[in-house]
Amino acid sequence: MQEKEKGEKYVSNRLPFIIIKRLPRYGKAGRGNRSQYISVFTRNPRGGKAKDLDVKDIAAYQQYAAEHGIGQILAHAPYTINACGKDERVQEFARETMADDLRRLEEIPDCKYNFHPGSHVQQGAEVGIEKIAGVLNEIMWQEQKTTVLLETMAGKGTEVGRNFEELQEILSRVKYPEKMGVCLDTCHVFDGGYDISGHLEEVLEEFDRIIGLDKLCAIHLNDSKNVLGSHKDRHECLGAGNLTMDAIVRIINHPALKKLPFYLETPNDLEGYAREIAMLKAARKD
Ligand code: ZN
Ligand code: FE
Ligand code: FE
Repeated sequence: MQEKEKGEKYVSNRLPFIIIKRLPRYGKAGRGNRSQYISVFTRNPRGGKAKDLDVKDIAAYQQYAAEHGIGQILAHAPYTINACGKDERVQEFARETMADDLRRLEEIPDCKYNFHPGSHVQQGAEVGIEKIAGVLNEIMWQEQKTTVLLETMAGKGTEVGRNFEELQEILSRVKYPEKMGVCLDTCHVFDGGYDISGHLEEVLEEFDRIIGLDKLCAIHLNDSKNVLGSHKDRHECLGAGNLTMDAIVRIINHPALKKLPFYLETPNDLEGYAREIAMLKAARKD
């Protein structure tokens, strides 16, 4: 848990959390790291109130992004929300936070919003899935431009989204499936028991059969500190974990994946990210 939060927090390049408020700075951090895409938190990842977006900030960011070839923003919801919480107040907090995030993200063109489906605690996955879809149906609307992504989870504790079937169950219950997709976290699926290190082709076939590769919108590219099926969710730097660098190179070059945006959530610092990005660029076969 601690490790995961630390790892994912660093996605924001160690700048203050509330990136949505400070888009130009984050664009620059992405550029400094020579990354093409940036991942941001919509607010402090541990929750809390977020400031309204400043129109001037958005315009400045858009200009900077266009000039420097920075593509799509992937916004990450805070970790503290649980859309399938047992207690109604827990669910209400998720509903309010996500609705507020979506309202603010609507100002940013070509933006995607990723969230962890939640933990069903003792309610069972079926109830969890129903509740998550219920929250999405209450907060999403017809004209919404932001795509909402479900993240594949490691299956730690009672996490929902531990396999492709559960994600598909959520997608099959939402009112606006065309506004939804999946973000595949390589550490999470590996920890969840999908061998993307040794059997990438088979895992992608399974994803395609159950969810559909057309729904796959983004990749969180992480190595794992733990073994296949460990259900742990502890990210490792690229090549330093059990996925291995060979597997990561296959992932970034796979024909079904290579056109997707990749986002690092490795436990690294700015220089470390720059090294990882340089390594990925060198390994990319275009
Ligand atoms: Zn994680
Ligand atoms: Fe995440
Ligand atoms: Fe992730």
